[in-house]
Amino acid sequence: MTNNSLKNRTILISGASIAGPALAYWLSRYGFKPTIVERAPAPRAGGNAIDIRGGSRAVVERMGIMPAIRQALTNQRGMSFVDSSNRPQATMGVELFGGEGLVSDFEILRGDLVQILYEATRDTTEYIFHDTITALSENEEGIQVTFEKGQPRIFDLVLGADGLHSTVRQLSFGAESEFSRHLGYYISIFTAANHLQLDRWQLVYNMPGKLAGVYTAHQNSEVKAMFLFASSPLQYDRHNSEEQKKILTRVFANEGWEIPRLLNAMDDAPDFYFDSISLIQMERWSKGRIALVGDAGYCPSPLSGQGTNLALVGAYVLAGELAAAAGEYQTAFARYEEKMRGYVEKNQKAAVDGGKWFIPPTQSMIRLRNLNMRMLPYLPWKGLIARAIQKQTAITLQDYTEAQASSGSASL
Ligand SMILES: Cc1cc2nc3c(=O)[nH]c(=O)nc-3n(C[C@H](O)[C@H](O)[C@H](O)COP(=O)(O)OP(=O)(O)OC[C@H]3O[C@@H](n4cnc5c(N)ncnc54)[C@H](O)[C@@H]3O)c2cc1C
Repeated sequence: MTNNSLKNRTILISGASIAGPALAYWLSRYGFKPTIVERAPAPRAGGNAIDIRGGSRAVVERMGIMPAIRQALTNQRGMSFVDSSNRPQATMGVELFGGEGLVSDFEILRGDLVQILYEATRDTTEYIFHDTITALSENEEGIQVTFEKGQPRIFDLVLGADGLHSTVRQLSFGAESEFSRHLGYYISIFTAANHLQLDRWQLVYNMPGKLAGVYTAHQNSEVKAMFLFASSPLQYDRHNSEEQKKILTRVFANEGWEIPRLLNAMDDAPDFYFDSISLIQMERWSKGRIALVGDAGYCPSPLSGQGTNLALVGAYVLAGELAAAAGEYQTAFARYEEKMRGYVEKNQKAAVDGGKWFIPPTQSMIRLRNLNMRMLPYLPWKGLIARAIQKQTAITLQDYTEAQASSGSASL
């Protein structure tokens, strides 16, 4: 869509994961000119499988990428919490909450979704890989952006979609420590061989304060090995995966189940990921010509299971409000913050108590959690749990393609 009255068309987005490309897709559809700078040399693979529910499902439908997503669904059948001998202690099928529960029937690997979003935007977006913003200097005309490798350039707006450790946030709002709330856990995910011959199934083994798990990916040809553990904040180099692997090895040394074998696979994994489980909580997500979207502004942490949902919905609303305000960023940013605030708070709240359920701190609490899981199918209030999950992810999204001519809204 082109619109000659649009202002502030040239927009630099930092980060090419979920929020960045989703933002670029909508911005170019409304007539803006997005450029994305990504620190990695290519879209980054790896990460967990993620559920696409509620608002984000509506967003991907409107983007026209649903067929590609359907093709890449993991089609998981269910999961078991197991003991050290792999005996199931509690089992949950995908059908338990009609495909909308802990095991979702609409789940895709994060890396696959990143690739789909990249394919959907690469022809309409200028991508700059292997570079990063190092300085931002704003004046009335625009923002002068300095890059680590490329020549300085001027853009009308800069949008930070660069995740939990956002550089845009740090350069324009302040140090990460001002906004980050460590929830007391770390997470690691990487690809390994499906040596247990699992068939679209997930196994989870808990130890007090620790969790290890595997689930199949890409038609059972491999598994994602997943580790979570309770810990106060650790000091380590975020860009040094060898150091992070040593931490994981130390924390899970002497543990049983499949852990030694999975840790052995770590060095061959092409997509090792390790990070803290933290929230980003800010009073404002915009300042002058700069705004934050997704984890950069409001990371809800893996414990919420809603990081991708918030990123896709946030990108849709931010781009839509810029279009609806014909590029008047002050109006657009204010409306974006107003529309997203309640949704973000609701989803972040879900993460705070999630840790004790996934990673109980004692053996007796692990047993109690497993007992609860076994009883779940028979609970009369099972339906209430399913409705609570639906409510958490639901949001009413305006149809901004119509909003440019007249304002209309659709409930999704
Ligand atoms: C490799 C990877 C694996 C992940 N695995 C999981 C997981 O297992 N479970 C989970 O809950 N969440 C995971 N996440 C986070 C998850 O993707 C987000 O919570 C969610 O999808 C929101 O996405 P986002 O686009 O806002 O942020 P992110 O997905 O974090 O993306 C941020 C992007 O910005 C890039 N970037 C960072 N700094 C700069 C910079 N200075 N300049 C340019 N680019 C920069 C990063 O390389 C990344 O591509 C992972 C993220 C990554 C990058």
